[in-house]
Amino acid sequence: MQTTGDQYLVKKLNKSIVLDRIVAHSPLSRAQLSEMTGLNKATVSTLVGELAEEKLVYEIGLGVSSGGRKPVMLVFNKAAGFAVGIDIGVKYAIAILTDLDGHTIAERQIRLERRDADSAIRAIAEAVRSLMAQAPDSPYGIVGAGVGVAGIVDDKGTVLFAPNLEWEHVELKQLLEQQLGVPVVVDNEANAGALGELRFGAAREASDIVYLSVGTGIGAGITIGGQLMRGFGGFFGEVGHTTIETNGKRCRCGNKGCWEQYASESAILEMAEPLGIDRFESLIELAHGGSPDAIRLFHQVGESLGIGIASLINTFNPELVLIGNQMTRAESWIRSAIDRVVAARSLPFHRKQAQIRFASLDTRSAVSGAAYSAVSAFLTKDRITL
Ligand SMILES: [Zn+2]
Repeated sequence: MQTTGDQYLVKKLNKSIVLDRIVAHSPLSRAQLSEMTGLNKATVSTLVGELAEEKLVYEIGLGVSSGGRKPVMLVFNKAAGFAVGIDIGVKYAIAILTDLDGHTIAERQIRLERRDADSAIRAIAEAVRSLMAQAPDSPYGIVGAGVGVAGIVDDKGTVLFAPNLEWEHVELKQLLEQQLGVPVVVDNEANAGALGELRFGAAREASDIVYLSVGTGIGAGITIGGQLMRGFGGFFGEVGHTTIETNGKRCRCGNKGCWEQYASESAILEMAEPLGIDRFESLIELAHGGSPDAIRLFHQVGESLGIGIASLINTFNPELVLIGNQMTRAESWIRSAIDRVVAARSLPFHRKQAQIRFASLDTRSAVSGAAYSAVSAFLTKDRITL
């Protein structure tokens, strides 16, 4: 029998749906899958058979019967392969090895300070290769690597401009694929952070979120209906470069008075300079110890963060605003200032619906989201993105 293009497509779609449900809800019986997907039992059985042959799904013991024979339960084989997540920050990069369900198996930190792009990428690749060597044996091995980078990334995985890293036109995807020998997905780190929190963190139940990565600079990953906003060229979310002071401080982007000049980790370090403090960690320690100077600086940064967050709440009407990256560590001292400014400056209807919280994966949102991108690229390869 000849299979038409349409039949082939429908089968591919159905198989993607079945796998998607098993990944999200296993253990499931074939009958439950049939109920969930609306596909008849014979179709479900055929598709499950193929997925089992592909080693993505396997059977475990018997489930609870609703009368009659106890059903065989199906689970997603999260150890069918492993993925790498990489978060490239300004001072250091973090790389993790995860299973297909996002559990971290091993981790590496790589210092990057004052490195040019080539040597930074070589150092990252070396650390990642040693991580990859730690993966247990599996049918698919390393399925890919996902990268979140603090910069503007195009759809070919080239970092066009990363002002804080001082990278310009770096073909990151291509360079890493050459050095790692696996497929690589590159995204902006705020997008990766939003994905990490949506899949594994504080935004699991949410669909319209603003994830703010507040580190050396400020970027946003924004989802509407659970989908990341990309913009025409893929450059969505550079909120750190919106002007909050007409004649404010010069920014590396060429503008004056950018939000990140007042509300980021580098902004607070600049303010702390007269106090002889040059590390964010030291400021956190001082604030923990009750230093009035450190606490005052965090309040000031909290207020500046609040100004931008109020505008984002008015613009996007999100259900959840998550503050992520390094600034999550300052929650105790910036929280009340943010809440106060947002209450004073945002529209009442919008404010009532928006919760402001801190990323629950702490500084691991982006690296987890990056690994998840690699897994999701593998699981939808030859299938259909739902
Ligand atoms: Zn700027």
